[in-house]
Amino acid sequence: MPLLVANIPWTGPEADPTDALQRRLGLSPATSLQFELVKRSVDGRRRPPLWLANYRVDLDDPALEARILRKPPHGVRAYGSRDHERFDKVDPAAPSRPRWPAGVRPIVVGAGPAGLFAALRLGEAGAPAILIERGGPVEERHHAVRKYWRHAELDADTNVVFGEGGAGAFSDGKIYTRRRDGELGWIFRRLVDFGADPTILEEGWAHLGTDRIRAILPQLRARIIELGVEVRFHAALQSLLVEGGRCVGVRLSTGEELRGGPVIVATGHSARDVWEAMLAAGASAEQRPIHIGARIEHPQQVIDQARYGSPRGELPPASYRLTSHPRPRLGGGDAARAAHTFCMCPGGTVVGASNHPGRVVVNGMSYSKRAAWWANSAVIVEVHPGDYPGTDPLAGARYQDEIERRAFAAGGGDFKAPGQRVSDLLAGKGSVDVPRNSYTLGVTPADLREVLPAPLINGLIEAIRHFDRQIPGFAGPEGLLIAPETRTTAPLRFDRDERLESPSLPGLMPVGEGAGYAGGIVSAALDGDRAARSIIDRLSALAAPA
Ligand SMILES: Cc1cc2nc3c(=O)[nH]c(=O)nc-3n(C[C@H](O)[C@H](O)[C@H](O)COP(=O)(O)OP(=O)(O)OC[C@H]3O[C@@H](n4cnc5c(N)ncnc54)[C@H](O)[C@@H]3O)c2cc1C
Repeated sequence: MPLLVANIPWTGPEADPTDALQRRLGLSPATSLQFELVKRSVDGRRRPPLWLANYRVDLDDPALEARILRKPPHGVRAYGSRDHERFDKVDPAAPSRPRWPAGVRPIVVGAGPAGLFAALRLGEAGAPAILIERGGPVEERHHAVRKYWRHAELDADTNVVFGEGGAGAFSDGKIYTRRRDGELGWIFRRLVDFGADPTILEEGWAHLGTDRIRAILPQLRARIIELGVEVRFHAALQSLLVEGGRCVGVRLSTGEELRGGPVIVATGHSARDVWEAMLAAGASAEQRPIHIGARIEHPQQVIDQARYGSPRGELPPASYRLTSHPRPRLGGGDAARAAHTFCMCPGGTVVGASNHPGRVVVNGMSYSKRAAWWANSAVIVEVHPGDYPGTDPLAGARYQDEIERRAFAAGGGDFKAPGQRVSDLLAGKGSVDVPRNSYTLGVTPADLREVLPAPLINGLIEAIRHFDRQIPGFAGPEGLLIAPETRTTAPLRFDRDERLESPSLPGLMPVGEGAGYAGGIVSAALDGDRAARSIIDRLSALAAPA
């Protein structure tokens, strides 16, 4: 049986780890072995920090392997079946390819990660599916986003969150999951097939970067079309067609009707008009807590110094993930709300991410090299449904929208964002100037108390004080808050049954982040895949002999 040998110092792709593996296994230099790198990550707790790698090791002598496993050295164990699935690049069994009866034509709405991977899975199963997307293809999107970031000209349908690739396209492309087995492995391997760097299969903290995502999407699209799926851009769902209490298709904003089903709606957390259309058609949903706050930006070297204890040298730009759970105040009084950092972008930039005129929304992104001078992250505070201005499912979206409008006003128009020095926020005063920053649309010195409700400001202040103890300099004079970060996830969740269908509107499958079932590129892709497999499995079961 092969061995898994963990945490061997990694010094680069050219270096040969044979000596280190032999030493760890207690073998003489003459013992021959084969190895394969299966995972690598930085251990930032060491001083200086170190790249560490895990290897699959095969010895020529099975008796020797068995002897090592009887009393394995530290960090050595048998390479089990889960490791095989996780690291050996084997796909789980594909669902069987059913025959698609004439009336069954799945409609996938939205070409974000959820919709794209649903369409890919359906295509691989031979489905005569159609994928509709309100925005343009990624090549066109690139120009539209540049116009917005450089000249504040927003296209409401093709922008940072809408268009091929969805909200994930102009992102950091973090795909941080510890696992690479099962369906997750299928997604990662498809990304590599379409052009992602193969190191994402072994990197614990893998990320793609906006430039790489832009190159992957056309290849993914070409494959989906090659599999027989019709792909239509600039085709926006306006309403759902309902007959006899069942969703039987969609009406586009042009008035054209597309009949078919099931209808997978994967339109993300910014398509508030689609939520309205789904609710109007009879899909049930409930409110959901969210988190809202601001992006915090520092020079990357502040984070490197705090994390690595020295300039980073050859190591990747340092990152962090922090949480704050304040205790109730002594002598009574409510505790400040819990907060955490989210979507940290080392070597990245803060970007405008609105799709609505008159609203400011910020987010973070990076390119594959993560070479920007700055580091940014959202610092977000919990928001409860009790904060929302109503009990209906859309009340959370109205809460977000109000903050985004106030931010637009405080920024002074043209999508300039309000910003405040961290030190000013802690001192309880508005800023009169802001440090150099990465937000291309412009940051207006402001007092964020005019933008964010008081409980969120209090939560931010408590959290930043707490984080400064872990990252010295976090609350320092170079720190800048740019607001607001409102679109961290959907403030509502559509009900689904075990088939992922709406119980109140059969034929509709609410999927991905906008439906309340995902929070990131990979989890959205996974949810899209699950929806597609549910359709395929149901059809296969119908066709199976009794
Ligand atoms: C700037 C930024 C950075 C991010 N960074 C990361 C990151 O590093 N890692 C990570 O995991 N996640 C990141 N995210 C979050 C991630 O992008 C989302 O979680 C993910 O894209 C959600 O996938 P989805 O398919 O559910 O929805 P979306 O990606 O939002 O896709 C929805 C799609 O539906 C389309 N659509 C909307 N309305 C209609 C309609 N009426 N008709 C037809 N089509 C419609 C949209 O145009 C869009 O293409 C980031 C998001 C942003 C905005």
